[in-house]
Amino acid sequence: MTIASVIVDIPASQTDRPFDYIIPPELVGIVQAGMRVVVPFGTRLLQGFVIEVKETTDMPIEQLKPIHSLFDVVPVFNEELLQLGKWLTETTLCFMVSALQAMLPAAMKAKYEKDIRLIEQHISLVHEDVRALFGDRLAIPWSDVEKTPYVRLLQKEIANGHIEVVYRVEEKGKIKTEKWVELCASDEHVTHILASLSTRAIKQKQVLERLLAARTLPLKQLLSETNSTFATVQSLMKKQLVTVKEQEVYRDPYANRSFTKTKPLALTDEQRKALHAIGQALDEDVHDVFLMYGVTGSGKTEVYMQAIDIVLKKGKEAIVLVPEISLTPQMVRRFKERFGSRVAVLHSGLSLGEKYDEWRKIQRKEVQLVVGARSAIFAPFENIGIIIIDEEHETSYKQEESPRYHARDVAIFRGRYHRCPVVLGSATPSLESFARAKKGVYKQVTLTRRMNDHALPPVEIVDMREELRAGNRSMFSRLLFEKLTERLQKGEQSVLFLNRRGYSSFVMCRDCGHVIQCPHCDISLTYHRVQQQLKCHYCGYEQRMSSHCPACQSEHIRFFGTGTQKVEEELTKLLPHARVIRMDVDTTSRKGAHERLLNEFGEGNADILLGTQMIAKGLDFPNVTLVGVLAADTMLHVPDFRAAEKTFQLLTQVSGRAGRHHLPGEVVIQTYTPEHYSIQLAADHHFEAFYEREMITRKKHGYPPFYYLTLITVSHVDPLKGVSVAEKIAAHVKKHLSPEAVVLGPVASPIARMNDRYRYQCMIKYKREANLTTALRTIVEHYQRDMARGDVTITIDLNPYMMM
Ligand code: ADP
Ligand code: ZN
Ligand code: ZN
Repeated sequence: MTIASVIVDIPASQTDRPFDYIIPPELVGIVQAGMRVVVPFGTRLLQGFVIEVKETTDMPIEQLKPIHSLFDVVPVFNEELLQLGKWLTETTLCFMVSALQAMLPAAMKAKYEKDIRLIEQHISLVHEDVRALFGDRLAIPWSDVEKTPYVRLLQKEIANGHIEVVYRVEEKGKIKTEKWVELCASDEHVTHILASLSTRAIKQKQVLERLLAARTLPLKQLLSETNSTFATVQSLMKKQLVTVKEQEVYRDPYANRSFTKTKPLALTDEQRKALHAIGQALDEDVHDVFLMYGVTGSGKTEVYMQAIDIVLKKGKEAIVLVPEISLTPQMVRRFKERFGSRVAVLHSGLSLGEKYDEWRKIQRKEVQLVVGARSAIFAPFENIGIIIIDEEHETSYKQEESPRYHARDVAIFRGRYHRCPVVLGSATPSLESFARAKKGVYKQVTLTRRMNDHALPPVEIVDMREELRAGNRSMFSRLLFEKLTERLQKGEQSVLFLNRRGYSSFVMCRDCGHVIQCPHCDISLTYHRVQQQLKCHYCGYEQRMSSHCPACQSEHIRFFGTGTQKVEEELTKLLPHARVIRMDVDTTSRKGAHERLLNEFGEGNADILLGTQMIAKGLDFPNVTLVGVLAADTMLHVPDFRAAEKTFQLLTQVSGRAGRHHLPGEVVIQTYTPEHYSIQLAADHHFEAFYEREMITRKKHGYPPFYYLTLITVSHVDPLKGVSVAEKIAAHVKKHLSPEAVVLGPVASPIARMNDRYRYQCMIKYKREANLTTALRTIVEHYQRDMARGDVTITIDLNPYMMM
């Protein structure tokens, strides 16, 4: 008997183990580990993942059911990815099925459909109306009838046994096909026919001639080139001269873009040294982690590309992770220009189908390099030669839902498995990585000089409190305004950066100070001017902007702070001739909008680019000579121990946008806390001093990289129950950990209520705790029932980046 161990598609504690199924004789030798199958489970059919094929089972064989059907012809997971899945469950405490699904594109998730089917021997007994519903079909989708008045009748017929319900498991994504026309007769025969065709059959003649040249063409192309219709092709089919076939086509998001091939540049000394160090690991097939610490514009990307070149020449594959890649089309372009059709691109801006197609190019080994956002780390390559993570400090590499993995950890797992180097690049490495490099755990390579030896731009800090004292109530300091005006006169471009949408544009009553908040979350609503709406960015709640204060009825209700829209308005008022492009979530929500706006700016169709986070990264425009940061403090005051680090990184990144080419650049940072070290040191471009300073704080308060953190968040609709669960959890954890571990809380979370649920958190700080994951697992199992009912939610994050 051949048995398959299957993980079924139900993310829950009770089903979080392999179930054994008999492989039916016709599938023996075909079913392999890593394939998706359809299996009966209870009364349903479910998708499942085969993790092992074996000859024995611990179950009584008569209790085992056979596999219903096979989903894949080739495994979607290889041995390594199956191991990686297991590792993810252990290190992030997720269910095996969640780990496996995280590694596949969303299009490969299962879709469960229900059909109803006539049972042939009972057809004569079926009610007339029901038979009419079926027409001449034997089965119809339940979704076609579930909203009709016939439901009751159908249910009766099902109970009678006249019709039955059958389940269907399908893949969400569809493979796209295209019709191709192919010549199926010999050239001589076709030439002969051509000669004998009557003059009236001119279209047939044209089509045949075109096919004689090409042999095969997409139907659409053939018809448009010969200006004919399908009827022409059909008459040729009747004469058995051509055939029409469905052929798979890829949905290529970059299809109508052309890329000019670039050649490797002659490296600088520093770049050569960096490449040499990585090249050595490549030669020796050893796993090393390199921290490539290099200021923006120091040529890191060029080094990545030349290292990849070595890897591809060895016949191996490469993974490059870029943060939120859809936001940096320039980066994609550089890789496409260098490596052409050997590159697959994976990011959240692609449609479900496009992502699916890119993934399959990787699986079929049609590409050797993937450039992508976080989940591209799971690319199903089998012979990886290098993994590169650019901007390694970016928090978007951490997934904030189960499995809560960090792409850097996954990269190191895969690097070890494939015995290949992992390169982490950044101008402002995370404290964790920089500390590891200092200890020699990672190998550090350093690029200190910008290309063409352009100095980093001088940064001026403006104290906005002084501006107010001097009577300037505008959101632009006098200095920034003066420099903006100067740029306009010279025809140079400026970038204005405003921190994170939403945080600042809340609505407040000037008379009583009332701030309008979300009725479901303890968070102020954000004002959206165009729609005149107030929105909650946590739960999606929306309401119309009110004209009166809900607390005191005063009419003096205004939105405060500086959203991008408000800045844009003020800009148009103060500098009516300036052409402004605004980039924020609102203006870039449409597909392709981001790239279009950037292109416009790049082509010089605007003087000022105004935007949020999304303009901080990777932009490289030669004509930008001024960067203004409107409010540097917004991120400094969030309740997160990484607030100073994030502020430093962001300011450094934004400053790097100025003066990247021939024209020298400058930066103006506006702030209410000019004395803060993260602002001061960012202005000095002094990462190492910041590192030293920040490490002192981390050590003093027991934060990473000195301690590990685990954050447990409990939420409940009833605050008393929520706090009681959180207290029990804290007590349980304390009991199982060593005295060196610190368990803080429970306390109310910084966002104490979200979606009408009250939130409490416990933080665990520790160095080494062998029992931690077991203790945490016990908790999850203990509360499984309550969680399944939705009463309580418990999330455990073993390496939290979101402290809210
Ligand atoms: P980083 O990734 O460190 O920000 P880039 O790789 O983007 O730096 O390099 C900055 C600029 O310098 C780019 O325009 C790039 O083409 C150019 N560049 C990089 N390396 C070289 C080199 N060796 N010679 C000439 N130009 C280079
Ligand atoms: Zn009021
Ligand atoms: Zn809300």
